[in-house]
Amino acid sequence: MFQKGRIYTYIGEVVVSMNPYRQMDIFGKETIEAYRGRELYENPPHLYAVSDAAYKAMKRRAKDTCIVISGESGAGKTEASKYIMQYIAAITNPGQRVEVESVKNVLLKSNCVLEAFGNAKTNRNDNSSRFGKYMDINFNFNGDPTGGHINNYLLEKSRVVHQQQGERNFHSFYQLLRGGSEEMLQSLHLQGDPALYVFTREGAGAATSYNDRSNHKAVMSALDVIGFSNQEITSIYQILASILLLGNVQFEVDGESVQVVEDGVVNQIAELTATDPDCVVKSLLYRTVATGGGEVIEKGHTEQDACFGREAFAKALYERLFGWIVSRINSVIEVKNYNPVLHGKNTVIGVLDIYGFEIFDNNSFEQFCINYCNEKLQQLFIELILQQEQSEYQREGITWQHIDYFNNQIIVDLVEQPHKGIISILDEACLTVGKVTDTVCLESMNTKLAQHPHYTSRKLSPTDKTMDFQKHFRIRHYAGDVTYSVEGFLDKNKDLLFQDFKRLMYNSANPVLKEMWPDGQLGITEVTKRPLTAASLFKNSIVALVDKLACKEPYYVRCIKPNEVKSPVLFDDARCQHQVAYLGLLENVMVRRAGFAYRQLYSRFLQRYKMTCEYTWPNHLMASDRDAVEAIIRQHGFQDDVAFGHTKLFVRTPRSLFTLEQERAAL
Ligand code: ATP
Ligand code: MG
Repeated sequence: MFQKGRIYTYIGEVVVSMNPYRQMDIFGKETIEAYRGRELYENPPHLYAVSDAAYKAMKRRAKDTCIVISGESGAGKTEASKYIMQYIAAITNPGQRVEVESVKNVLLKSNCVLEAFGNAKTNRNDNSSRFGKYMDINFNFNGDPTGGHINNYLLEKSRVVHQQQGERNFHSFYQLLRGGSEEMLQSLHLQGDPALYVFTREGAGAATSYNDRSNHKAVMSALDVIGFSNQEITSIYQILASILLLGNVQFEVDGESVQVVEDGVVNQIAELTATDPDCVVKSLLYRTVATGGGEVIEKGHTEQDACFGREAFAKALYERLFGWIVSRINSVIEVKNYNPVLHGKNTVIGVLDIYGFEIFDNNSFEQFCINYCNEKLQQLFIELILQQEQSEYQREGITWQHIDYFNNQIIVDLVEQPHKGIISILDEACLTVGKVTDTVCLESMNTKLAQHPHYTSRKLSPTDKTMDFQKHFRIRHYAGDVTYSVEGFLDKNKDLLFQDFKRLMYNSANPVLKEMWPDGQLGITEVTKRPLTAASLFKNSIVALVDKLACKEPYYVRCIKPNEVKSPVLFDDARCQHQVAYLGLLENVMVRRAGFAYRQLYSRFLQRYKMTCEYTWPNHLMASDRDAVEAIIRQHGFQDDVAFGHTKLFVRTPRSLFTLEQERAAL
């Protein structure tokens, strides 16, 4: 099927999509027209069909819907989300109203900007999203987009300061260096070569299909279209330049104290961030601390602390810049002046493009968070699909056989349960004063979680030589076992940034920068409350996301990557089977098998297939549409494959339906 270019199929209403790794001619105006307003089984499986289903449910039944796209890195989630958006943009606003067109334009353009700042070349995908994205699109009673809102999740900010071999930093840096005009680079104190900057050096030579130069132009124009002011655009690039320069700041030990090697770079950073050069140096070399007696003193960094602080600062600058860009886009697309009394109910379609399960050779804190997020989404998936099926069968008076499936609540609890879960244990270790190391924290997990059936470590299974006593723990996820290395867990969870940097940025004369650092307002003695840890913040955001999704009618797109080498012809069976397993597609098929793959209102079914039966063509003389449908089914001998509900016909396997479709086409 893959070789023939049939990249989509269905399990029930779930679209399974295979990345073709080549341009297909199944996207575009004509195809969009073919799917517009049609039912799912009337056309070959396609993303457009599910987009249409979500749109129809929203428009006809005033339901909030969501489309959840999942799959591993490189499986095609982001491309799918773009096709979905294009479809929705194409079928709405037939009257070409200016204000609706402008909302659509901003929604579409926002992709280009978010990709520049949130995507990077990795070893698995030249354009890998390094953040999770959930976008709500709002519609008025006409079914036209009136606005939207973007939520972003856990940007992989460690990439700003370090990348694996063969990978790159975020696209934005290379775009600026390679695509920025001479004049622009000069004003930013940059030279147009990524090999000159520590943060972009490693990835400077990485081959990529991504064109930095032309993308830089596209981003500049997108920023302009979205409505970023000139000052804001300049500030964005000043911040990027400051980060690059910060990477080149070096420290040296001079007797007792630590110094910056070259003042020039620091002066440039000060100029670009509209801050005082002395203050920049100070925040790089000292930390203000309050003593027990309430006295405030400046404590010099060791060289190691200075390097740590500088990297934390660079990461935070980028993270806040990204967050600010998202919120600026939101302020433009947020629905304004909507009056439900005048305009009718405001409905929503949400589109989720979020990282799938990650199982690498070395799994760290980021994978732990990402895999936890997938456990939550998997649970929602099973709950909603089962729930939906069950209530539909009940409504229609059809008997439902209960099916057993693995409930992963136990793994979700292992991670998030208050006091006992892994996140709590991590947080506790981070709060403890004194030197709690990653290994000490691992021991605490071993003690507290010894009995948990989904947790193990070398200490708990001493014969397992694949794990290290000091370093590893393993979670049996629903998608398979993942061994995590605790190295760096506590630092990443604490996510410490010295208050001095926050204050420095808050005191910037550039209002855009100042706006990004409201917490720099606090004086040293006022900072008493510890900020939430990274894991807790992430947990809260994912819980909120699940709540948002749970109250919508869900549609699913499950993306599969056919091979590891981006080939349009290779199909790696074992890899695909593995993905099918961890995407939960087997459970999905089971639920579906226990039930019915297809259901349709009697009237509509009759309308479509009445020509395949002598008793119903051209019109039937029976008491009801239901009786007429029964006549069609009998004539074809499909009795065992269907059930008759109150208003709908339920068909167990799509095969019968395809037969009917073929007969219809042959007439
Ligand atoms: P990540 O989790 O790393 O962000 P992803 O699932 O979002 O990965 P995409 O960026 O959507 O993956 O896809 C990776 C690449 O695969 C694309 O850059 C493109 O080259 C190719 N690809 C994906 N979907 C399609 C498609 N429908 N048609 C043609 N090429 C595709
Ligand atoms: Mg992506």
